[in-house]
Amino acid sequence: MTDRYAVFGHPIAHSKSPQIHAAFARQTGQDMTYAAILAPLDGFPASVAAFVATGGRGANITVPFKEEAFRLAQQRTPRAERAGAVNTLVFADGEIRGDNTDGAGLVADLTRNLHRPLGGRRILLLGAGGAARGVIEPLLDEAPAALVIANRTVARAQELADLFGRGVAACGFDTTGSGFDVVINATSASLAGELPPLSPAVFAPDALAYDMMYGRDTPFLAFARAHGAATADGLGMLVEQAAEAFFVWRGVRPETAPVIAALRHAA
Ligand code: NDP
Repeated sequence: MTDRYAVFGHPIAHSKSPQIHAAFARQTGQDMTYAAILAPLDGFPASVAAFVATGGRGANITVPFKEEAFRLAQQRTPRAERAGAVNTLVFADGEIRGDNTDGAGLVADLTRNLHRPLGGRRILLLGAGGAARGVIEPLLDEAPAALVIANRTVARAQELADLFGRGVAACGFDTTGSGFDVVINATSASLAGELPPLSPAVFAPDALAYDMMYGRDTPFLAFARAHGAATADGLGMLVEQAAEAFFVWRGVRPETAPVIAALRHAA
């Protein structure tokens, strides 16, 4: 029987995950389907239960249900525990297991696709919401020289720095310091067409500016380009977190480069 997977979110119509997983399944010869399911805002657990009852094997979870999925999971991987959120569910042996592949996706995109090693480099992470929290541990595992979290509400950045320890520093946008090799925008400012008020001095020579948002040029990327930084959007992270989820479910690693290229071509 064909194995069934799905992504749950609200809204969900915009999701590229069905396209990405269909491409992975074709490429690796896996017998599976992958649907997009609009869960009601007050009915996420029931929606997941209905999917499991009809033979669902696994799911991706997107906005706004990642924290609820964390609570729903009866078992969680260490990386999901540290992220405080779950974007990948596995339904097996009558149990719901939660994982988080977002951070692994970002690190894979930075290091493998964009050829930016992070070991010994200075990283500035903008934002202290769910997206930022999910990537901190995998970034630290790359052994950067510094990881600084800057946020509009400094107290939230400080909470994350305290939670992770390991030399993570917290500050506001005006006190970041300068000369970062990689500057990652994990705020939702780009969604509103806004730019965190940064000094151009944040960019080291040859810096990479990375916006987790994808699908359009953002004020952050335009600002970075104007000050000599290389830029990348979050499309690669999206495909890489999907590849990691695919690996969790199927034990097979798909090739991501052709899928990223096809999505860019279609945009
Ligand atoms: P949250 O709502 O949890 O957090 C939002 C963060 O953005 C907070 O730190 C908030 O600051 C900050 N912020 C909001 N508006 C502004 C502004 N105008 N100026 C400066 N800072 C602002 O959102 P998420 O963490 O879940 O998501 C953040 C982004 O990451 C989204 O754009 C999302 O699309 C993207 N994302 C991309 C992924 C990918 O695969 N490429 C995966 C996951 C997320 P404060 O604390 O002060 O309110």
